[in-house]
Amino acid sequence: RTRTIDSVNPASGEILARFDEHQPHEIEQALENAARAQRQWARVPIAERVTLLSRAAKVLRERKSHYAALITLEMGKPIAEAEAEVEKCAWNCDFYAEKAEGFLATEPVSSNASDSMVVFDPLGVVLAIMPWNFPFWQFFRFAAPALAAGNGAILKHASNVPQCALAIEEVMREAGAPSGLFRTLLIGASAVEGLIDDPRIAAVTLTGSTEVGSLVASQAGRQIKKQVLELGGSDPFIVLADADVEEAAAVAARARFQNVGQSCIAAKRFIVEESVADAFLAALCARVKDFVVGDPMSRDCNIGPMARANLRDDLHSQIERSVAAGAELRLGGHPMDRPGFFYAPTVLDRVTPNMPAFAEETFGPAAAVIRVRDAEQAVALANATEYGLGAALWTRDLDKARVLARRIEAGAVFINGMVASDPRLPFGGIKKSGYGRELGVFGIREFTNIKTIWIG
Ligand code: NDP
Repeated sequence: RTRTIDSVNPASGEILARFDEHQPHEIEQALENAARAQRQWARVPIAERVTLLSRAAKVLRERKSHYAALITLEMGKPIAEAEAEVEKCAWNCDFYAEKAEGFLATEPVSSNASDSMVVFDPLGVVLAIMPWNFPFWQFFRFAAPALAAGNGAILKHASNVPQCALAIEEVMREAGAPSGLFRTLLIGASAVEGLIDDPRIAAVTLTGSTEVGSLVASQAGRQIKKQVLELGGSDPFIVLADADVEEAAAVAARARFQNVGQSCIAAKRFIVEESVADAFLAALCARVKDFVVGDPMSRDCNIGPMARANLRDDLHSQIERSVAAGAELRLGGHPMDRPGFFYAPTVLDRVTPNMPAFAEETFGPAAAVIRVRDAEQAVALANATEYGLGAALWTRDLDKARVLARRIEAGAVFINGMVASDPRLPFGGIKKSGYGRELGVFGIREFTNIKTIWIG
């Protein structure tokens, strides 16, 4: 019997659409076509390849409201944020359309050769396993540089965003991607291992949980296939006593609750010096109380539903276990009594490292405040996590900030600002947040063969 994938509106729980999973012969065809198309694509000069990205950017902008509505319908983020997501995808396509050629330009190196150099060749067809939280951005963040570099791509998107997955295919088709070069496969997680094993897949990129990262990494490792892993995070947001506490709290509210808290680089642990903790907490709670919770299609909505019922259950369990272990509940702390998967915006105070709100990734609208003696203890606790994705540090002493930033174990440290991805800057983590980088010059080189050419 054919298995199906459901598109469910998390704001109501209603099924929006149902899709048959792709069958083995369709998967086989997609792999064959992608491999063939990629071999051709690799020979197209990069200056020509990037015109695909410019056209994709145009399609994204022209249909921004349509795609944004689809994102909101399927995963529940506020519509204004969905529009910003589509816009950012277009920016990323434009960015690589302009920069890819320079990023991958041949680099002469002097050696014992009469001439030696480094060139950047594509790897082949990359399997992209992507999550639902930024259903467009996660894909375009990977695909714009990967395609510009001459690779093909197969997308296995999260099972709760099949309409977005198909819409992405439409964007690439409308943009004029060569037939087969990029395909969405509607398949469950169990079909992924076969794809990783397939010789026509050259490399794998995954954005998702650390658990799945570990599985995918072992499968790809067994086949000696290159991987980039963007996994979970439990980002610290350190507020020192000499920070602009009001401003820090305002940014904290956005950094934690944007996308209904479902972001790998959301600030999750607010590590605050005791002398300013009450002021910070009061300012944060005031902001959170002002959030408009409700229909994500409404333009003034700040907090929509969480994306799936089980994600809400997981978050609620983490909050309950943290409170049982001594955390003080300041706001929220419960699922909301209305249709859909809404969770009341939550703030916990006096969280300690033994609690789930500290030790685990909280992927939803819940902030954990941790009080510390001084900057030393702040850095120690910031690093007391298995994750290492982003971190924020708030202080007016920029000399001190530069020193502390180097001691924070994370792929990015933002001083007096909110951690966010930016096409110009590399993005990725260390420790159990994964490895490899996306974006910037480092991102586009991940899925290339950094090839030495030596001429005697
Ligand atoms: P998953 O890690 O399960 O899903 C991410 C992607 O991996 C989806 O496409 C999923 O497909 C796929 N996948 C799931 N299981 C396997 C498998 N065994 N082999 C290969 N691919 C697989 O995340 P969830 O959506 O279940 O979210 C759970 C938690 O993960 C969140 O609470 C959060 O902590 C973290 N997460 C982190 C994200 C980030 O941005 N870093 C994004 C999303 C989640 P399918 O949907 O079909 O299972």
